[in-house]
Amino acid sequence: MEKLAIDGGKPVTSRAAAKRWPVLDQTDRDAVLRVIDRGIVAGSGAPEASSLEKEWAAYCNRKYCLATCSGTAALHMALAAAGVEPGCEVITSAFTFLASASCALHQNAVPVFVDIDPRTYNLDPNKLERAITRYTKAIIVPHIQGLMADMDPIMKIAKKHKVIVIEDACQAHGATYKGKVAGSIGHMACFSLNNLKNLCGGEGGLLVLDDETWKQKASLVRMFGDEVDDESKLRVYNASILGYMYRTQELPAALARAQLAKLDTLNAIRRKNAAYLIRELGKIKGVTPPYVPPRLEHSFFMFNIRLDPKAAGVSATPVDFRKAVEKALYAEGLHIGQWQTMPVPAQDLFQTQWGYGRTGCPWDCEKYKGKMKKRRASDRPYDPDNFPVAQALCRNYTVVHGIHPPNGLPEMKNIVAAFKKVFANLDVAMAHKDDRIYPHADSSLYGTG
Ligand SMILES: *Cc1c(COP(=O)(O)O)cnc(C)c1O
Repeated sequence: MEKLAIDGGKPVTSRAAAKRWPVLDQTDRDAVLRVIDRGIVAGSGAPEASSLEKEWAAYCNRKYCLATCSGTAALHMALAAAGVEPGCEVITSAFTFLASASCALHQNAVPVFVDIDPRTYNLDPNKLERAITRYTKAIIVPHIQGLMADMDPIMKIAKKHKVIVIEDACQAHGATYKGKVAGSIGHMACFSLNNLKNLCGGEGGLLVLDDETWKQKASLVRMFGDEVDDESKLRVYNASILGYMYRTQELPAALARAQLAKLDTLNAIRRKNAAYLIRELGKIKGVTPPYVPPRLEHSFFMFNIRLDPKAAGVSATPVDFRKAVEKALYAEGLHIGQWQTMPVPAQDLFQTQWGYGRTGCPWDCEKYKGKMKKRRASDRPYDPDNFPVAQALCRNYTVVHGIHPPNGLPEMKNIVAAFKKVFANLDVAMAHKDDRIYPHADSSLYGTG
């Protein structure tokens, strides 16, 4: 039997062999140089930003798109446009990136979490209705890791309770649900253009919607709340509402446009790589590859697997088993490791409920009358035990990195070979479970400095 790398053997591959995301070529170079040659580098009406808006609105079958500086800014703009204000609650999933919830705090509203579906890891529509209260104004629905949430029942429940649905599609550019593309179903949808995402501008965000009044409000929020004179089209330096500085820039917008031209091709490679891994890793006892429901197309922003000691024939806790397998695979040269380590409501921000400057706001704001306010020291409005499915997931999932293009079959074969080797030597891997190794994806894999 081949000796595991964690035990002094030769690694299957090296992390340096995995190719970097994003894929940058001559078309990206040309796009960025076009901006330099033109000499227009900023402004919300600038040519690259406004073309990006038109192209992305068309891609999502939407009337309008507003380009902004981050996905988080796009979410905040959407909530502000939706009329979320102090006293409101905003529902989101317990397994997502923090920004799906912190954007509600940025609007002085109170986040409420809903547990996830055990197979898709998305917000569980069966648990949604009981989280809706008279204070609920909006639901932020993340499409987690590139798989769209079950939008039909979510839209139905939202309609019944007159709640606004905002898709957090920051991980799902080009994913589809029953033939509908991510960002085309909710009342509004938000995307990120950061370096990790399937559509990359370096940094940036996109908000798509159909309602003109919301669009106007969101664009005010994007730029200081500053009004523009109808006739002269000049800024009058008279802020009508509270706004921020969420503008985009021409260089990231130009890069995003060049990337957009390649999005479908690059997503197809992700899907091909993922299909191979799902088939091959699925044969290994104790590995659960991602589940894709019928009539949905995953965009495979992340490739999630779950590790089950029992199915693998190992007597260990899920956490110990997961850590041992991660360390052994990392030693074999894979980029591997957890993304979220706990359900979002378990984070200190929600456990302490300190809020703005430790004032306890927005929960303690006098305008807020709901149940998430901590009235007694023993109250735990964000008790992590309320999210058992997300909690169980965070014990035993990990992410296999490097399934993005230009990685292809040779790299996927290395990943499978590393898994097979480790799973043939699980007793050795378990003996190394406490080694001081910290599995993760190298930042260079995602073009970060
Ligand atoms: C990336 C991401 C965001 C935030 O996007 P930024 O551009 O980094 O601000 C929000 N929600 C989810 C689910 C994300 O993955």
